[in-house]
Amino acid sequence: MQHFPVFVALAGRRVVLSGGGAAALAKLRLLMKTEANLTVFATDPAPEIVDWAAARRLRLVRRDAEPGDALCAVLAYGADEDAARDARFAAIARADGALVNIVDNLQDSQFITPAIVDRDPVTIAIGTEGAAPVLARRIKADLEATLPVGLGTLARLGKAFRKAADALPMGRKRRAFWSDFYFNAGPQALADRGEAGVRASLDALLDTHLNTRTEAGRVAFVGAGPGDPELLTLKARRALDKADVVIHDRLVAPEILELARREADLISAGKEGFGPSMAQGDINALIVQHVQAGAHVVRLKSGDPTVYGRLDEEIGAVEAAGLDWSVVPGITAASAAVARLGQSLTRRGRNSDLRFLTGHDMIGFAEHDWHALARPGTVAAIYMAKRGARFVQGRLLMHGAAADTPVTIVENASRADERIITARLGTLSEDITCAALTGPALLLYGLAPRAAAALPQATRDSLAKEIAL
Ligand code: SAH
Repeated sequence: MQHFPVFVALAGRRVVLSGGGAAALAKLRLLMKTEANLTVFATDPAPEIVDWAAARRLRLVRRDAEPGDALCAVLAYGADEDAARDARFAAIARADGALVNIVDNLQDSQFITPAIVDRDPVTIAIGTEGAAPVLARRIKADLEATLPVGLGTLARLGKAFRKAADALPMGRKRRAFWSDFYFNAGPQALADRGEAGVRASLDALLDTHLNTRTEAGRVAFVGAGPGDPELLTLKARRALDKADVVIHDRLVAPEILELARREADLISAGKEGFGPSMAQGDINALIVQHVQAGAHVVRLKSGDPTVYGRLDEEIGAVEAAGLDWSVVPGITAASAAVARLGQSLTRRGRNSDLRFLTGHDMIGFAEHDWHALARPGTVAAIYMAKRGARFVQGRLLMHGAAADTPVTIVENASRADERIITARLGTLSEDITCAALTGPALLLYGLAPRAAAALPQATRDSLAKEIAL
């Protein structure tokens, strides 16, 4: 992010603009929505600017700006649509201490004006750092279409009612009131009876909420999926939207944590599978403590919470404390990893069973029915195998598995940096060392990608290009 979005207080403060043509008009239309003191320097102003000056909406100075003209100005706009004139104005304004924007000149601007969706006091600013104005316009149009025109009215009336709503205890109860107002009672009252109706509805709504009992705390064990936020279930999204506290594993992707309610407490439990972590007992205690305090807790686990997630221990702790819980399933790493291979995890005539294994567990390398696994046609998804690969390989070969059994390593499945590495059982540990894995990785034992996927990346890229042509 090269530009940090802020909302600048402009009421009663100076903003200067140089220019009198189309670019100046466009900026002035936006600036006049604020309560800034506007001064425009223009030798040949458009008639609209003359009219606005006559209506005292801005001060018009019919000459070029001179040093000192931008003193005390917070913002200065160069809108002359002429490189030399813009540069001259920018130098003056900068020397006078104002932040400068030159219209349509990202390079020489100290700030940029975003596309704006105006539902005052709700203002949405959209910026693409100049990368894609078309995209900004499209997003703006979409938002304009989805946000009800009455939103601003509700926000304004709501703001005036904030003091009264403080009668509700802070936290969940107060939030429930506001969410009821903005999304149910408010829009309804506005549609039925207009602004006056909204005002009346606020008192009634507050009474109702003052008289309802607080909901008890609870925990949802939620699957965050393998990393791609689009692989979250709708239920998971909804749970994140409502959470007061999110206790997450280290593997949960940052893009997914971004989806949690802004006020939610995000607590990292630091776990990656059975890896180094906060002690399980401490995690259990943390969940119980927050639920007992009345919070809606989301215990967010990568993939599916029921797969190598120590879910039973956490449910046990919550249940022992007599608290409410639920499980929201997620897409496990094996499903995500196989998706790009163009293969099934099961296939008629090849494998009618599918195994989930772990390379190592809390107490070390994990033992399995190696004999059964070594049989031809076996397919297994091996979790947490980076450390245990050599061990798994040794055991399988020892029990008669063929050295050329395919193994596919999928690192960062479903994420932007996903890598698919094809290997054979006989050289597995070397192949893994060679791959220098840094992200979470899953082994698909007994599966190779379909032929096209097995080609080197460069060949695939050029193939894709040819197809696109
Ligand atoms: N509950 C999780 C698994 C947790 S154990 C699930 O259902 O997926 C952690 C192991 O999962 C990692 O060591 C790795 O083997 C695997 N894993 C998790 N996310 C992954 C991803 N995006 N790509 C590849 N493997 C992943």
